[in-house]
Amino acid sequence: MAKATWETTATFADLRGYLGQPGCAICSCVGQSRRRFLEDLVYENINDVGLRDRLRKGGGFCLRHVRALLDRKQALGTAILYGDLLRQRLRSFTERGGPRALPLAQDCLLCQVESESTRRATEVFAHALDAGRLQAEWEASEGFCWPHFITCRRLVRGQRAVLDRVEERCLADVARDVEALIASYDYTWTGTRSPEVAGAWRRVVAAVTGETDPAARDERT
Ligand SMILES: [Zn+2]
Ligand SMILES: [Zn+2]
Repeated sequence: MAKATWETTATFADLRGYLGQPGCAICSCVGQSRRRFLEDLVYENINDVGLRDRLRKGGGFCLRHVRALLDRKQALGTAILYGDLLRQRLRSFTERGGPRALPLAQDCLLCQVESESTRRATEVFAHALDAGRLQAEWEASEGFCWPHFITCRRLVRGQRAVLDRVEERCLADVARDVEALIASYDYTWTGTRSPEVAGAWRRVVAAVTGETDPAARDERT
């Protein structure tokens, strides 16, 4: 990717913004792509026959993304999409062979959107860091979740030591807060948990897996 190409992308601007916010900046970019896809789907693309056909043929969304769809509480769009899938099942009563298992999410569109967004964000970040950009933002960030750190690490060349140093420090911070949280449940413990310590059970799951729970995600977005 040529320098002029990545520096002017919306992804570069998004990364710079998200590195200054809590949590993994790549997860935040991916979360933004997921929300936009779902918004466009239920507001603008609901009558897109080709897209609805793909969703029907693919079995709709995977369970993780069904939950993301339900979180949005878009009654009309959700009813239209899953109405398609229900009619497909009802038709099987009058078809030869009768009702049968219909697989869910053979080809989840939202999983594809997320993996494309991950690829874009990790590539832009790696190019930027190697070109001496985003280093200050990276140093001041909370680091990446482990899966996104590993993906970036494969792409970063000259600046791998900077990538590792910041990530290790950030993970050590989470580990320290987790230990403090566990220690605070001892019956002899007296004191007040800081917000960092109180929320460490969510941060440790996010750091290891990249998954944030919907409540924490909504607080952030
Ligand atoms: Zn992440
Ligand atoms: Zn999915």
